[in-house]
This record gives sequence, structure tokens and C-alpha cells, in this order.
Amino acid sequence: MLVDLKDGRCRSCDSQLEIVDADDISLEVRCTECDETYRVETDAFSDGCMTYYVGFMTERMEGGDDNDA
Ligand SMILES: [Zn+2]
Repeated sequence: MLVDLKDGRCRSCDSQLEIVDADDISLEVRCTECDETYRVETDAFSDGCMTYYVGFMTERMEGGDDNDA
């Protein structure tokens, strides 16, 4: 799930982030440019958790993401 550039960017190179994992307290993001991966808070993108955290969890529960092993 890609993060809109207006909501957040890679802390290293300012490029677009993709959400690759989530748990109860954090999101794991990966930069689409430099591949850096790190964890941020669930509301790190100032969306009240609703857009990215809930969106990612919903997507995963629906099986829309085939990346999981
Ligand atoms: Zn980067």
C-alpha cells in the first residue's frame, strides 16, 4: 500500500513509501527508491490511523495482498 507523498516520505531520500507490514502499535514502511525499511507509529501520517493503518489491515484481511509468504 503506497503512502501519498503529501502524507509522508522516506526519512532518508524523500521518496515515496510503501506500507509492507503492520502490527498493533506500528507500521513497517519501505522506501520505493532506496529500499530502506523502518517502523513508524500507526498515526505517523497524520491520518488518525484511518487511511493507512486500517486500510492496510483491511486489505490484508481480504487477502488482497499476495506478498505474504
Ligand atoms: Zn528512501
